[in-house]
Amino acid sequence: MNIILLGPPGAGKGTQAQILVEGRNMVQLSTGDMLREARTSGTEMGKIVADVMDRGDLVTDEIVIGLIREKLEAGGASGGFIFDGFPRTLAQADALGELLKEEGQSLDAVIEMRVDDDTLVRRVVNRAEEAKAAGQAVRADDNAESMKTRLMAYYKQTSPLIGYYYAKGNLSSIDGLGDIDEVKARISEILG
Ligand code: AMP
Repeated sequence: MNIILLGPPGAGKGTQAQILVEGRNMVQLSTGDMLREARTSGTEMGKIVADVMDRGDLVTDEIVIGLIREKLEAGGASGGFIFDGFPRTLAQADALGELLKEEGQSLDAVIEMRVDDDTLVRRVVNRAEEAKAAGQAVRADDNAESMKTRLMAYYKQTSPLIGYYYAKGNLSSIDGLGDIDEVKARISEILG
């Protein structure tokens, strides 16, 4: 089973993806994680990626589609893939459809996680504060300023995917508010 977790920054996609990895033997493909790894490479490309990410803008389709293509071609997910933070544009969504087709794979569910904007901003700012208090690395884009850009990118570029997948027939929307187990249960209800 291959699924997409769709939602704005701070919706809880990464948290729920981790739970699915542990419970269902799925493989998480987070383009955010892949890009955070790429930026540490010290290459010119890594530097450009870092600037774009820290601002809160989207990295080019070409780069992220290339990252996902590599992972899909490598295969190896017995329980299927969880796409977390990908696709984020219509071009990425089309490319994912093509890639899955090439691999003879299907897209089984797209789960939209709905969380109101005030809560999103609060969650992201809290995440930074908690990391700081615990002496962990704070994401450079987890601040109120970058969060505004990230939200704008979501509404301008990513939210059209809700209609896109509705029209394709595989969209389910859930309430992303509440505690982690409540949200987990809502996702389980959809995936069975
Ligand atoms: P995330 O960890 O999903 O919140 O992603 C962090 C940042 O990485 C985003 O704000 C973007 O700058 C970049 N990014 C992650 N995934 C994508 C994607 N699919 N397309 C473009 N940029 C992305």
